[in-house]
Amino acid sequence: MFALIDANSFYCSCERAFDPRLRGLPVAVLSNNDGCAIALTREAKDIGLKMGDPYHLAAKRPELQPLVWRSSNYALYGDMSRRIFETLLGMVPVVEPYSIDEMFLDLEGVPGDLAQLSADIRACVRRVAKIPCCVGIGPTKTIAKLANKVAKQDHNGPGVCDFSEEEIRQRAYPSIAIGDVWGMGRASVAKLKKQNVETVAEFVAMPNDQVRDLLTVVGAKTQAELQGRVCFPFNDAPATRKSLAVTRSFGRPVLTWTEMEQALASYAVRAAEKLRRHRLMANAMQVFMRTNEFNNDPRYSNQATFEIEGAADTLALIGDALRAGRRMWRDGCRYFKAGIVLLDLKPAADTPANLLPSRDPEQSARLMAALDAVNTRYGQRTLSPAVAGITRGWTMRRERLSPRYTTHIDEILVVTA
Ligand SMILES: [Mg+2]
Repeated sequence: MFALIDANSFYCSCERAFDPRLRGLPVAVLSNNDGCAIALTREAKDIGLKMGDPYHLAAKRPELQPLVWRSSNYALYGDMSRRIFETLLGMVPVVEPYSIDEMFLDLEGVPGDLAQLSADIRACVRRVAKIPCCVGIGPTKTIAKLANKVAKQDHNGPGVCDFSEEEIRQRAYPSIAIGDVWGMGRASVAKLKKQNVETVAEFVAMPNDQVRDLLTVVGAKTQAELQGRVCFPFNDAPATRKSLAVTRSFGRPVLTWTEMEQALASYAVRAAEKLRRHRLMANAMQVFMRTNEFNNDPRYSNQATFEIEGAADTLALIGDALRAGRRMWRDGCRYFKAGIVLLDLKPAADTPANLLPSRDPEQSARLMAALDAVNTRYGQRTLSPAVAGITRGWTMRRERLSPRYTTHIDEILVVTA
């Protein structure tokens, strides 16, 4: 048996956890550079804000004046996610994080009433991590996810939906739209609609080979899961990533190569860290830079994709990125965005040794291990190549950023009498 626990309006709930004045108020969190709404509370939805609404327009709408806006604070959200994870680990033996605010629990062999346990878990996360959430229970991950969705839609309900019994599912399926199912994208929903299949009950009743013809093996697995047969077991190895991108819009236009060099180098640093965390190596790289296409600045956009010597070494990747960047750099442009995409990723363990490496692989591995150890212990960018810059005036706008309450001692919440 699985349970899926999913935080309600997670980013907004993190903001509220440390600022009780926000309770009951409409709150929205903005994307990088304070661009558009990426998380909103129910109160924000109720007064008409939609996911993806751009800040510069929404901030002027009279009916949205009560909104409290926040810049995204990933240091805070990441740490709150860890708190939820640890709270859960204290209550059930196995927890599998699925996204920053969703975690699967393995309830196999856990004694007692699962719905009661889920209610206790939910209350504990609320009490310890200060985050409201909902729990869905089911014999497969897809059913647990669906149960969670049902729990969430019932605003005044208990916050727990138990689909462990076949009989209860049979009663619920006819009134659930197929688009509410995990992995059912818009294209799949449209294909099913042509076959007059609009509810989960109708989908589950379709002949299996018809589903396979229509939606390939992925759709067939989803159908089997909805019927209660496990196709996505616990700790199913996630598909290895094929590419990894670090791209950002700048907080203000970048005009000099020195600043562009810093930006590209620091993206390479981030990309290399991510590679090593996933024990991968990149065999190709894409570098791009461009001006803003939505204003009257002269336009320029360029990108280069090229093979690199299989690497997860920060210094090697910086070298590759800067060589490509230097070639496409053009003076006199107001650059708006740049980025690095690492491609052709392979597990480091599967990558054959290079006969004529340009770096000593053992020396590189030792240096990178030291770099990662220092930065893990003392915080990101404690140790960073000088070329990635120190003052970094081009970084993104975050004018409405809340303090990093849980990860920085200078920003801790202070209570005064
Ligand atoms: Mg959520």
